[in-house]
Amino acid sequence: MRSKQIGKNLFLIELETGGFKNLICSYVIKGAKIFIVESGPTSSVPNVVSGLKELDVRFEDVQYVAITHVHLDHGGGVGTLLKFLPNAKVIVHPRGMPHLINPERLWLSAQAVLGFVSEIFGKPEPVPKERIIPVTEGSFDLNGDAKLTVIETLGHASHNLSFHESLNGGVFPGDAAGTYFPEFDVVMPTSPPPFRLEAALASLDKLISLNPTALYYSHFGKASNGVQRLKDYKAQLQLWAKIAGEGVRENQSLEEIRDRIISEDKVMCQLADYLKSHIIYSKTALGNSVQGFIDDAKQTQAKEGS
Ligand SMILES: [Zn+2]
Repeated sequence: MRSKQIGKNLFLIELETGGFKNLICSYVIKGAKIFIVESGPTSSVPNVVSGLKELDVRFEDVQYVAITHVHLDHGGGVGTLLKFLPNAKVIVHPRGMPHLINPERLWLSAQAVLGFVSEIFGKPEPVPKERIIPVTEGSFDLNGDAKLTVIETLGHASHNLSFHESLNGGVFPGDAAGTYFPEFDVVMPTSPPPFRLEAALASLDKLISLNPTALYYSHFGKASNGVQRLKDYKAQLQLWAKIAGEGVRENQSLEEIRDRIISEDKVMCQLADYLKSHIIYSKTALGNSVQGFIDDAKQTQAKEGS
């Protein structure tokens, strides 16, 4: 089984992208209408399809595929997935929409940033314009009075949306609340360039104000104590920003700043060995996430003239 029930009318599908478990998942809300949250990348669309079959979802009944943002690991596969779902429309931030219609530029930049990891995710296929619903706010009916509400949560990307579902009171944050490691029950920053700290913190305040019971991470899975986790994540971002800011002022290298983060962030001490030995996370989490803080600190310091 690659699917499991995690709440009322709510299911998780393990995508096992590139053969990796606990890396990326999609979610299915089975109400009067059927919603999928996150297509995942192109290479694991066959696993979304087999998960839907396990859940007895009829393809023609899927109304919406909501993607938190267009990065390959979240929305890269949506063009391919739509070929199976004749009636589904895609919910996406308006800034992501052009990249769904024509994914060429997105693919080139993903190859530059992610290197071999982009090949593991696979090249996105285009989405027909008429099948896209661009939104930054508003809500969609789920079941009876229940709704899926859209929240604009920028910072990780300039086009990250989160979704709140009122059936269970949980939130799908995309990458706005970090990466959750269920094996360790901890979260670490997902902050590749062009990460924007101020926007990320403001987004977390928006999510905290919703008082979510649980968070449904795209990486990876459901975690309880939603509000506390969001507050902890804010504090963690502030710690990383402090270390990166000092490191930039002192002209430290990426490796020096990374190692200081690993030694000062309790979560990172715990995760470091695991991340270093993980083919994908050693590239994305350790390298790119620290680089995002360095770039943001440089920009902030340039503005301050310090
Ligand atoms: Zn991601």
